[in-house]
Amino acid sequence: HLNDVKGQIDFDDVSFGYNKGTQIIKDFSAHIKPGQKVAIVGPTGSGKTTLISLLMGFYPFNQGSIKIDGIDTHNVPKTEIRDQFDMVLQDTWLFEDTIMNNLKYNQPEIDDERVYAAAKAVGIDHFIKTLPNGYDTVLNDSVSLSVGQKQLLTIARALVRNKPMLILDEATSSVDTRTEEQLQQAMDVLTKGRTSLVIAHRLSTIKNADNILVLKDGQLIESGTHDQL
Ligand code: ATP
Repeated sequence: HLNDVKGQIDFDDVSFGYNKGTQIIKDFSAHIKPGQKVAIVGPTGSGKTTLISLLMGFYPFNQGSIKIDGIDTHNVPKTEIRDQFDMVLQDTWLFEDTIMNNLKYNQPEIDDERVYAAAKAVGIDHFIKTLPNGYDTVLNDSVSLSVGQKQLLTIARALVRNKPMLILDEATSSVDTRTEEQLQQAMDVLTKGRTSLVIAHRLSTIKNADNILVLKDGQLIESGTHDQL
């Protein structure tokens, strides 16, 4: 079982294909220390999403191993693996309910104060308070949120959940410079002290990463910091 996870992730010689015969991930190894921020980069179709899916236990693979805190994830129930991660994905999954419930996502027992603190920390609290019903505003078609605001809400949600590891798929959609800065700051807050794997599209993310993994055709072709590469 995964208990009190520190967030060490070890990929060792992982190979995987969705169909027999076609290897999508080839002999992939990487070692990520607790709290490290790792950027995964590579052209479209190079296997970035597949790699994350394997880590999360979405697909069975029988070549190589992925360990969390030294425990082979083959031996851990999938729900238990997923419970160790927060995910901030390009498709912001906000649902038709209050902002408060969206930020507590499936955990009604969470204290409201923790939600306010997270919203403040990512810089979306002020905006929420400008809405007529504040945190009780139901997100539906009558509330228009910008792409940036939606992303800030999902970042706040991850901060509320506060899992030891984070998967972040950076949005490719362009936002204005001010929003860009706000998102960058929010992500800095979220990734601090948390093992973070970021499918990176922003240069600033790549520059700030402790390690960059460069994928091509399912293979790790380079790794290191921005200065080293
Ligand atoms: P992008 O930057 O476009 O998101 P990526 O680097 O994340 O790309 P993947 O989505 O991991 O790449 O895809 C790697 C390869 O695996 C591609 O050739 C893709 O067509 C294939 N692939 C992805 N998902 C599946 C699937 N469910 N079944 C079969 N093949 C798939």
